[in-house]
Amino acid sequence: MSSVDKQLDDLKAEIDEEVPPDITVSDVKYEGPELVIYTPHPKEFAEDGDLVRNLASKLRKRITVRPDPEALSDPASADAKIRSVIPDDAGVTDLDFHEDTGEVVIEAEKPGMVIGRHGSTLREITREVGWTPEVVRTPPIESSTVSNVRNFLKQERDERRDVLERVGRQIHREEIGRDQWVRISTLGCCREVGRAAFLLQTAETRVLIDCGDKPGAEGEVPYLQVPEALGSGPNSIDAVVLTHAHLDHSALIPLLFKYGYDGPIYCTEPTRDLMGLLQLDYLDVASKEGRTPPYDSEQVREAIKHAIPLEYGDVTDIAPDIKVTFHNAGHILGSAVTHFHIGDGLYNVAFSGDIHYTDTRLFNGAVNDFPRVETLVLESTYGGRNDYQTDQEDSEEKLLEVINETYDDGGTVLIPAFAVGRSQEIMLVLEEAMRTGKIPEMPIHLDGMIWEATAIHTTYPEYLRDDLQDRIFHDNKNPFLADQFNHIDAGEDERQAVADDEQSIILSTSGMITGGPIMSWLRHLGSDSDSRLVFVGYQAQGTLGNRIQNGWDEIPVNNDYNGGRGDTLTLNMGVETVDGFSGHADRKGLMDFVRTMNPRPEKILCVHGDERSVQDLSSALYHEFDIRTFAPKNLETFRFR
Ligand SMILES: [Zn+2]
Repeated sequence: MSSVDKQLDDLKAEIDEEVPPDITVSDVKYEGPELVIYTPHPKEFAEDGDLVRNLASKLRKRITVRPDPEALSDPASADAKIRSVIPDDAGVTDLDFHEDTGEVVIEAEKPGMVIGRHGSTLREITREVGWTPEVVRTPPIESSTVSNVRNFLKQERDERRDVLERVGRQIHREEIGRDQWVRISTLGCCREVGRAAFLLQTAETRVLIDCGDKPGAEGEVPYLQVPEALGSGPNSIDAVVLTHAHLDHSALIPLLFKYGYDGPIYCTEPTRDLMGLLQLDYLDVASKEGRTPPYDSEQVREAIKHAIPLEYGDVTDIAPDIKVTFHNAGHILGSAVTHFHIGDGLYNVAFSGDIHYTDTRLFNGAVNDFPRVETLVLESTYGGRNDYQTDQEDSEEKLLEVINETYDDGGTVLIPAFAVGRSQEIMLVLEEAMRTGKIPEMPIHLDGMIWEATAIHTTYPEYLRDDLQDRIFHDNKNPFLADQFNHIDAGEDERQAVADDEQSIILSTSGMITGGPIMSWLRHLGSDSDSRLVFVGYQAQGTLGNRIQNGWDEIPVNNDYNGGRGDTLTLNMGVETVDGFSGHADRKGLMDFVRTMNPRPEKILCVHGDERSVQDLSSALYHEFDIRTFAPKNLETFRFR
């Protein structure tokens, strides 16, 4: 008998002891990090509200109870029963029964009302019908990404359960090593921005943290082939942990599956969906630019199938000797500061991923409070000594000023923006400014992936800032549903009509004018001297956005959006830059993150910044806080224990 089977037998015996005599436990299995209890008596299990909670704390496991097939009422009658138990206001949009697992997935506009106080409504459902309910939110704005991911996972449910069972046995395997050591190898994003990848290694386990590309430098991928990473085979790593969906952290995860990796990807649920959206776009852009992408959409689906979503604050076993916990990072939807607890109190490491330290309109500021941390791996994008950003309030005022001026001139405002994060931040600024009369009411057109990314934001309001959540939960106050917002979904004719029509504000991808529908908008509006082009995000060297900022006024517009003709356009529209809408902490934010961090770490690795930024930040942190700091290069290894 394997050690995992023995462990499960022991757990079953322990559970038998704990449950009342009228409850039988037929089987106990691991599925990913969870312990699943099968029983012919699901209704009796649901009778006692504390039973599962007590078991979970006694066994120190996350527990799910599933009914044996014979305990299930038939789906048709269960359907009617469930709908009668759930309050009408919950807005149930779909019930989906899975007879093989005894689960019913309930999609509802207000999941909280399906769950009930402390899960009371969920338990009532099980008491009535025997099925185990699982609740998901109906997106308030229809999202093709969310529905594609959900449908795909539905269709792959069997195979996914096999994956989870295999991963579960892997997590709970018996430890082999007596040796205790911890090290981190840097596989990318050191003294550079892009291709984030780290390997956290113990005598027992190897975990890859992030696996991104380097924007503008295709082919410069993380050093995955070193012996301690994939060099000794695709499954020599146990798990991948993804801090957030941006491509410089996630783009090359599907490549791991192409190499033959078959293990889990731990991330938050919104990170999983955004990752899928951005990776598919990455493939699309590559093919439009005539490049051969390193993988195809099949591997994007593999990554989604292997994703194990975790919520902020869940302490989760991902290996016999490693527990991971995600905390809000304030950077983009679902972004996580990731805490690793290694061994039984042996060592603790936190990876910041990308962070924003203070609150923004979209997110609460990054969490920096942990039970223990000895080492922090800290992003340093704006770590340079002069990298201070304008206060967001001042930036907002300046943006509104530019909009008012443009309106008075009779022009249109064109804002190139990234689909994920900055666009939603700007949408919130504009919605409030119109509501409070600071700028005139006019249509706000959203082009490119912005609408879709916004829909994903509204699907996961619990990841947004507290007061924004409250507004989204009340449909009539959901700022993203404001009447002014118009989705450009009818292509070039609609753009032409908008450009010819009344004055408006247009948000369009790509954020650095490197392609996408923004090219078409420039063609329509670029010659109009009454209109303004307003930059609200960083423009990297070498991008058209950066050139326009530096005064270029003859710009090439030969791309997909005008049929491939090699034209140039004379730019007559005004060009403005409004700083301060960054998703990253600036120098002060990074220093404050460490200053207020609890507990203060012994060591800090400054990564994810250009040479000057990491050096500056590393030396400032050392001088101010007397912490041992490092600005590692790629391919360095640090031993901590
Ligand atoms: Zn990022």
